[in-house]
Amino acid sequence: MKPLHKPAEPITSPLKAIRANCIDCMGGYARLVSSCELVGCPLWPYRMGKNPFRTRKVSEEERERLRTQMKELRKRETV
Ligand code: SF4
Repeated sequence: MKPLHKPAEPITSPLKAIRANCIDCMGGYARLVSSCELVGCPLWPYRMGKNPFRTRKVSEEERERLRTQMKELRKRETV
C-alpha cells in the first residue's frame, strides 16, 4: 500500500482531509474513491475533494487573493 502522505506535509484544508480519509478508506487507492457506493457515509458528497453544495463562483483573482491571505495566516501561525 502506498503511503497516503508524508508526515512532513500537513493537510491544510477540511476537503483535503476528507479526500485523504477516503483514499485511506479505499486501501490507499485514489482511483477507487469515485466508485464508493456507501452513499450513506457523511463524507460521500465530499469524497472527491470538492464541495458539491458550493454555489458561489469565485473568480481567479479572488481565488489568488484568498490563497495569499491563507499563506500569510499560516506563516503567522508558525512563527
Ligand atoms: S465516502 Fe465514506 S465510505 Fe466512501 S470512501 Fe469516503 S470515507 Fe469511505
